[in-house]
Amino acid sequence: MMPNMPVLSPVKGAPPIVACPYCAKEHQWDTNNRFRPFCSERCKMIDLGKWANEDYRVAQPADEQDFTEPPHQA
Ligand SMILES: [Zn+2]
Repeated sequence: MMPNMPVLSPVKGAPPIVACPYCAKEHQWDTNNRFRPFCSERCKMIDLGKWANEDYRVAQPADEQDFTEPPHQA
């Protein structure tokens, strides 16, 4: 009994399908993809830009100046 049907279930060792965090486009997880978990460089840049421009400003602590000083105290 040797099934010759196309394998629709996840193949052993095959990369999983992941959804791009930005555009939700499903794509195959590729360790060669420098932009993962995003589907493309564009999505990665847009998402990073979003964080840098909006969320970072909101999440920026009031005592920001403390981060610019050396951690040690004389
Ligand atoms: Zn995307």
